[in-house]
Amino acid sequence: MVGIWKKAFRLRLFFLSVLLVSSCGSPTNGNQIPVEGKTRVVVTTTFIGDVVNNIAGDKADISVLLTAGQNPHSYQPAPMDMVAVSEADLILVNGFGLEDFLDDLLSGTDTQAEVIVVSEGITPLMMDEHLEDDDHGSEDSLDAVMGQDPHVWFDPNNVLIWAENITSALAGQDPENKAFYQANFDAYRGQLLELDVWIREQIEKIPKNQRELVTDHSTLGYFAQEYGLIPIGAVIPALTTEAETSGMELAELIDTIRDHLTKAIFIGVDFDPNLAQRVADETGVKLVPLYFGSLSDGEPAGTYLSFMRYNVSAIVEALH
Ligand SMILES: [Zn+2]
Repeated sequence: MVGIWKKAFRLRLFFLSVLLVSSCGSPTNGNQIPVEGKTRVVVTTTFIGDVVNNIAGDKADISVLLTAGQNPHSYQPAPMDMVAVSEADLILVNGFGLEDFLDDLLSGTDTQAEVIVVSEGITPLMMDEHLEDDDHGSEDSLDAVMGQDPHVWFDPNNVLIWAENITSALAGQDPENKAFYQANFDAYRGQLLELDVWIREQIEKIPKNQRELVTDHSTLGYFAQEYGLIPIGAVIPALTTEAETSGMELAELIDTIRDHLTKAIFIGVDFDPNLAQRVADETGVKLVPLYFGSLSDGEPAGTYLSFMRYNVSAIVEALH
């Protein structure tokens, strides 16, 4: 499947290139017309976009490739993304394997942009992943491989590292405004630290023996590690929504939920709820929607800070 998908992706990129060539000379670039003199920053996720916004303010021209509600694990670039990337000065990405589409996107353009992995400096959580073994041909051969968990944004202390990396990257591109970026960083740092304290207070409301998480895929590892919760299972026990789950794994999850005091399965608002609903029906727990892969378009999770507050409130409400 992975191999076939990659081939399909390359084919798609080819068609995108054709589209781009045929749209050359068109004077409008939608909402991504570069503003003269400003650093043109392209970011992948809405989370990174929001942090850049907080630090750069109106001093940079920011394009966010994924829109609210788009799943980063299954994202396929649009023709506009190639335009944005080819015109960028700075490209900021999450890293740790989140942006599967990135290599093809970058090599499909002649971009001269500096590419920065904002998660640089974060210690990645590692997890067993069952990936298909492309080298040995068989579609059925599964190998356990340790994969890096890309969901670093569920810990505000990681997002603080992002903010540091973003501040240096912006100052590197635009040294004249270094003090401006640094002042914005200092203010945002304060908000992130406040958020961290608030989360600890909220988690205290959950009885200690109920601080356990079941999610749609393995998405809350960093959150659980930082705030003392235990991820006990996932509908898709993998770091991506694109992995498959077996009947045996689902049966194990149902047993696990029955053996624990778990009251909820947390699923991303953009996740297909069918499998999770089956597990919920079998075990009598409820499905609780959270924002996982992107911010919302406006309320209730339109900024990183409100995204975390929304999710944590929903988790506490469901578990306490
Ligand atoms: Zn995910």
